[in-house]
Amino acid sequence: MTDILTSYVLGAWAEPSAEILTENDSAVRTVHDPATGAELAKVSSAGLNFPTIVDYARNTGGPALRELTFHQRGVMLKKLGAYLNERRDRYHKLSLTTGATARDGLIDIDGGISTLFSYSSVARRQMPNSTTYLDGGVERLSKGQTFVGQHICTSRRGVSVQINAFNFPVWGMLEKFGPMFIAGQPVIVKPATSGSHLTHAVVRDIIASGLLPEGALQLICGSIGDLLDHLTEQDTVAFTGSAATAHSLAAHPCVQKRGTRFFAEADSLNFSLLGPDVEPGTEEFDLYVKELVTEMTAKSGQKCTAIRRALVPEKLLNAVADAVSEALAEVIVGSPHDETTEMGPLVSTKQADDVRAAIAKITSAGAEVVCGYNPSRPKGANELSAAFVEPTLLKAHAEIAAVHEVEAFGPVATLLPYSSLADAIETVTRGRGSLVGSLISHDPVVVRDVLVSTAPWHGRILVLDRDNARESTGHGAPLPTLVHGGPGRAGGGEELGGIRSVLHYMQRTAVQASPDMLTAITGTWVPEATRHTEGTHPFAKDLSELRIGDTIVGGPRKVTLEDIDCFAEFTGDTFYAHTDEDAAAANPFFPGRVAHGYLVVSFAAGLFVKPEPGPVLANYGLENLRFITPVSPGDELTVTLTAKQITPRETDAYGEVRWDALVTNQDAAVVATYDVLTLVEKDTRKSEA
Ligand code: NAP
Repeated sequence: MTDILTSYVLGAWAEPSAEILTENDSAVRTVHDPATGAELAKVSSAGLNFPTIVDYARNTGGPALRELTFHQRGVMLKKLGAYLNERRDRYHKLSLTTGATARDGLIDIDGGISTLFSYSSVARRQMPNSTTYLDGGVERLSKGQTFVGQHICTSRRGVSVQINAFNFPVWGMLEKFGPMFIAGQPVIVKPATSGSHLTHAVVRDIIASGLLPEGALQLICGSIGDLLDHLTEQDTVAFTGSAATAHSLAAHPCVQKRGTRFFAEADSLNFSLLGPDVEPGTEEFDLYVKELVTEMTAKSGQKCTAIRRALVPEKLLNAVADAVSEALAEVIVGSPHDETTEMGPLVSTKQADDVRAAIAKITSAGAEVVCGYNPSRPKGANELSAAFVEPTLLKAHAEIAAVHEVEAFGPVATLLPYSSLADAIETVTRGRGSLVGSLISHDPVVVRDVLVSTAPWHGRILVLDRDNARESTGHGAPLPTLVHGGPGRAGGGEELGGIRSVLHYMQRTAVQASPDMLTAITGTWVPEATRHTEGTHPFAKDLSELRIGDTIVGGPRKVTLEDIDCFAEFTGDTFYAHTDEDAAAANPFFPGRVAHGYLVVSFAAGLFVKPEPGPVLANYGLENLRFITPVSPGDELTVTLTAKQITPRETDAYGEVRWDALVTNQDAAVVATYDVLTLVEKDTRKSEA
């Protein structure tokens, strides 16, 4: 008896209602192994109470997540990634039953888990150890400097619903889960029915790990029922799948009337262009052929990023067609359960039927079959089963509209000859917006021209040549640190992209207040806010004692001509502005010889330092350094150093302190401003004990 997949809702694994299933056959769907036809699982969400699932996410998951800082969420994701990594062999076995080969499984499973590590790192390295993210700097809004502004990002109070495509049951979930979780969003995952048994296995482990706060993740296997009816303005739907479903979901009243955010990654007719500078026998020619064959066959072409439109110079059409056909003939197509298989079936016989129908649509519009499935030919005797489609290369004139409109979501690409770059650019834009494009050329003029002209229609563009080929991750691989998504037909979504995708799920708000109030709100000292200069030197305080606004003022110290000479000789920096009075005076910026900027920074360090061993462990850099007023011999420097931001590290006995450094002269003119970055012990009493 085939298992019925449970859903994880309201803190428990829930079976669909037997009563409804008995009365209504259509409420249950069956998942098959497309290679063997074996029945794998039955899927149904019949009987789930969707409003309570949404409430549970909002009222249990949301508050628990928002209690945690970005760093705490990041540490959890890292632990979760390690936990899933230890169990990956089981997912790989299951992945073979989705039609994916072992290599396809790497993209889905290992690629998916790696996004968790990547987002853990974004949270811990690029975000503060708090629950509010500061977006950009402080804006001065008034002359008297009592009124300032700052953009802050906070966690929305709703739920993020993922509706995912069948092609990546693990990656599709985790690449969205990582940023949503860091953003403080409880997540409801609805995987595509095909492949949902694999998503289910991973979620089962995630829940069993006990690493996530309760309510942070729920799983719905089967239809989402009336779930959208319960979403409002604080909620988000992130959809991946067909343009048709994207349009119908975008038209739902929750999006149209109640302000639910809706992001879509939909069909995409991605292009790859072979530059006119490339000749057969060159490295770029071989790279183009290899990349196209990889994109057609990896995951049997069921990748939203796969190359669908291959643009080649007219004169190379036959050479490329021959080389690609030859390479495709070498690809071993078969069951993923056989280790030698290089390309498996499509996810289901229905999907294979859809792909064959899409090929027929493109060929009946005028495209020719170079190799592979030919709709006008009787079925090949060597076809393995109805779920398989041979890798199919078509060629067509770019004027044929179907080539730019019909996405055959399988091992299919069309060669499109172009006569000039202007012609090629026009052809690319007929895709009306795609996730990714690639340019294979070693000519910077060609690359720049095509890239700048086609970028507005794309979320990502790979430029591939002999210099980066060995290390390139390829046309089809979205990376956690780079944007994945595309305008227009591709859905207009923007996933991944490092911190960008986390902020995507948060609310940005411009806050206007006084400097002291803004400091209190954000936990980050704002210039013009109160400084606390009394008491212990701030370098003598560990993180348990240090407060935002704690300040040390050092100086004044006079800068002499001898100091400047000595610094020039000692460092070897004998630039004329420091050593030649006449030449310096002729410079539009200087009154005569001036002190080195680095001398100013060095003297400032000497003025604020506390030499004895203490909680400050190291200075690990400066940021935002600007030299503003030149320092002439005889000028007197004063430095004001203020604790600006304190970031204790979750997993270390120390944290980071960012100090605001302000160097002024005897006339109170600002000489230099910068941030000093230090590592400071959290609690010296603990480390001494
Ligand atoms: P789909 O039919 O649009 O399904 C995508 C997801 O939406 C699945 O989870 C599906 O659930 C769900 N869904 C379908 N109808 C729904 C509705 N009325 N309300 C709520 N959810 C609904 O797409 P697919 O079958 O996964 O793939 C088909 C096409 O999508 C492909 O041929 C390709 O063109 C495109 N695709 C695009 C990307 C991309 O990233 N751009 C990725 C994969 C696929 P069920 O599975 O339970 O029906």
